[in-house]
Amino acid sequence: MIPYGRQDISQDDIDAVVDVLRSDFLTQGPKVPEFEQQVASYTGAAHAIAVNSATSALHIACMALDVGPGDMVWTSPNSFVASANCARYCGAEVDFVDIDPNNWNLCPQKLADKLAHAEKQNRLPKVVIPVHLCGQSCDMAAIHALAQEYGFTIIEDASHAIGGRYRDDPVGSCRYSDIVVFSFHPVKIITTAEGGMALTNNADLFERMARLRTHGITRDPAQMVNEPAGPWYYEQLELGYNYRMTDLQAALGTSQIQRLDEFVARRNELAKRYDQLLANLPIHCPTVIADAYSSWHLYPIRLQLDRIKRSHREVFEALREGGIGVNLHYMPVHLQPYYRALGFEPGLFPEAEAYGRDAISLPMFPKLTEESQDQVVRLLRECLA
Ligand SMILES: *Cc1c(COP(=O)(O)O)cnc(C)c1O
Repeated sequence: MIPYGRQDISQDDIDAVVDVLRSDFLTQGPKVPEFEQQVASYTGAAHAIAVNSATSALHIACMALDVGPGDMVWTSPNSFVASANCARYCGAEVDFVDIDPNNWNLCPQKLADKLAHAEKQNRLPKVVIPVHLCGQSCDMAAIHALAQEYGFTIIEDASHAIGGRYRDDPVGSCRYSDIVVFSFHPVKIITTAEGGMALTNNADLFERMARLRTHGITRDPAQMVNEPAGPWYYEQLELGYNYRMTDLQAALGTSQIQRLDEFVARRNELAKRYDQLLANLPIHCPTVIADAYSSWHLYPIRLQLDRIKRSHREVFEALREGGIGVNLHYMPVHLQPYYRALGFEPGLFPEAEAYGRDAISLPMFPKLTEESQDQVVRLLRECLA
């Protein structure tokens, strides 16, 4: 089976992890701050907090922005459920903004229309979470301008997008947002097995997220309510979690990030090759906006169902039977039973729903060979004939 995504682990990566096993610290040692420093300097963000998943990063990001009961958080329905769930963990209400039918990211015009409507009803969101689908940045300048106008904060869910760029900046710079989140799950661009990171340029948000990662505890006398009673002393200031990354994971990250640009360049080559090989088939290939350099986490195509004989499911199953591990990213979040139970209905976000009915993610990962890619294209061509 050719999977849709797969990690690329080198001997250096393995050695980096084994070195930690022989060292004094398996967790909370020197590798976590080293990896944080590398990601901060790669992106240009001032501060980075490594955690055990992007889901945890999204959670402490919402908490640091004081998301709670009575607040609204908006995100894209075309995402993994974690982009919305983080607000629910905080007791906030979730709503969605439909995607742009051309680039499949949260649509700034639809966001503007929804904000104008919400303002009249006094239901403006506290936080908006744009998701950089497939590794392509959303139109962050437009979303940032709306944040200034309507007074919401922004968390970029950049789980797909480390190594990508928007205008003059790496994704993760936080130039257009308060917090940016990365995932290091094995199918993503670089991996720490499980792992994630939150980046920010705001020192207060940094301090708060650092505390929330470790039970809400501080060892910094400047943050304490009381005078330190002795060298053992720490204070729990609020209810946090154990969301720490281990040194084993961070060591893998410090080694993987050495090859980040190489991985993204290879993904761009494969994407360009797919574009050429798939031209003239009854499908739509992904398009990238002029302002973005995509990290190409995913390469989804959309079937033109009115031009082919088979259904979406039939093409999907034929590819799977032919040994191609295609997938769907994503079924619309608002149609999950959990969100249906909160009142969301089919028809609310028609562009994301249409995407869920005709999209297929093809294999895309740095070690994908051109022969395998040709095999994918050959089988797809047969399925569409
Ligand atoms: C993978 C992913 C997440 C969650 O990442 P984890 O590190 O597995 O918690 C969140 N949002 C998006 C868009 C993702 O693709």
